[in-house]
Amino acid sequence: MDETLIFERSVAGRCGVSLPPDDLPECDIASLVPCDLLSTSPPPLPEVSEGILVRHYTNLSRKNFSVDTHFYPLGSCTMKYNPKINETLAALEAFTHTHPYQPPDMLQGILTIAYELGEMLKELTGLHGISLQPSAGAHGELTSLMIIKAYFQQKGERRTKILIPDTAHGTNPASSSRCGFQVQQIASDKRGRIDLAALKLALNGEVAALMVTNPNTLGLFEEQIGEICDAVHENGGLVYLDGANFNAILGIVKPADFGADLMHINLHKTFSTPHGGGGPGAGPIVVRDFLSPFLPVPVLEKQQGQIVLRYDHAHSIGRVKSFLGNMAVVIKAYCYIRMLGAEGLKSISEHAVLNANYLLARLRGIFDVPYNDHCMHEFVVSAQNQKQKGIRALDIAKKLLDYGFHPPTIYFPLIVPEALMIEPTETESKETLDQFVQALERIVEMADKNPQAILKAPITTPVTRLDEYSAARNPILRWLSTSGK
Ligand SMILES: *Cc1c(COP(=O)(O)O)cnc(C)c1O
Repeated sequence: MDETLIFERSVAGRCGVSLPPDDLPECDIASLVPCDLLSTSPPPLPEVSEGILVRHYTNLSRKNFSVDTHFYPLGSCTMKYNPKINETLAALEAFTHTHPYQPPDMLQGILTIAYELGEMLKELTGLHGISLQPSAGAHGELTSLMIIKAYFQQKGERRTKILIPDTAHGTNPASSSRCGFQVQQIASDKRGRIDLAALKLALNGEVAALMVTNPNTLGLFEEQIGEICDAVHENGGLVYLDGANFNAILGIVKPADFGADLMHINLHKTFSTPHGGGGPGAGPIVVRDFLSPFLPVPVLEKQQGQIVLRYDHAHSIGRVKSFLGNMAVVIKAYCYIRMLGAEGLKSISEHAVLNANYLLARLRGIFDVPYNDHCMHEFVVSAQNQKQKGIRALDIAKKLLDYGFHPPTIYFPLIVPEALMIEPTETESKETLDQFVQALERIVEMADKNPQAILKAPITTPVTRLDEYSAARNPILRWLSTSGK
């Protein structure tokens, strides 16, 4: 494959567009733009024909590793197949040609979709108030923590601490610190669940909330979640649910029923939006009644059949995003839920859990499974045994690329050494899962016979093994062309 940069293919004077001759009178640019803003030389842009341009970007796009090209079992991220009908619908001109500054009575269609998606998410979570504004899960966390802070401030209580289990995603402590809270870690017990006794010991008048992920990042359901939430509530605190793992419990468990007071939902994980390249996503938050007055404004409400934007929430934390949120993601989630219906959503979770348990059962003979239990939609194995042969989880992940699989999440959660966190999702077939097992079997065999072959992996990708640290800290973004330039 041609690996030259588009700059290297540039030929002076070549042009990829043909514009009609302009019929405007010529004028001096200096009379239109202040002199200090004027460049003295043309921008150093590549000059290529339209055909070369199309080839360049098409070839680049083929280097993508995506859920549309490969199995992508990236634990905690729910990389599932996203039906293309949702893309088509979200791209309708009726949506893309609206402007957020149009008056609400001209936007009733898109506002109705946003409102109805909100109602569906309330139904699925059992919670009462919603904001679609946050742009991602982490943004939903931050927004929720701002609400928690405002809630206690308004009550005149000074609570400065957030409790977070040691299995939590890194965004949980990061969002808490960003919001000015102190973070206290809660240990897991030997079954990989929150240690209830340790939690009770940590509870006191300083604790504002517990951030909990259920099922947790080991893919295990917190069976004591009722008692856990009771303990936090008896102490006057709130329970925040990290909803990134919602794919495991759709239509089966309502978080409000087990005690969650507020949560975020990653629309881009659970409800159909391709993700992984940094967005766009959406992390709506859903809250109990008594927290609704603190929601970001505007809040959507239905009055006499019209959707109105309310800005008069008594204790609103204000806006956290321009306009209403990432509407294309909202539309895709709405279409996805409408298409599947209540039964379809439930079967998502049933199949996600079934697929994960099938894969786990097949991998038990290959890897060590530190928290060996039935799992929910994902599970974590350890490459501890392979490490003794000089092969780390990282090496296994890299070698998987040569077999055409995106690697699972590695080294997370932190309490599992040499962790491989695998989430197959409901959209994969048994055949794909079997091929994945086969690839892992071969890699583990190779670890015995020819470990060097694994340490060099990947060898089939455009770039092979990178120095992880230099690649992040000191990236060389310029490809050396075959001519050595
Ligand atoms: C993905 C994830 C988050 C953060 O969500 P983003 O949408 O990536 O910001 C938080 N917690 C868990 C458990 C996650 O998997």
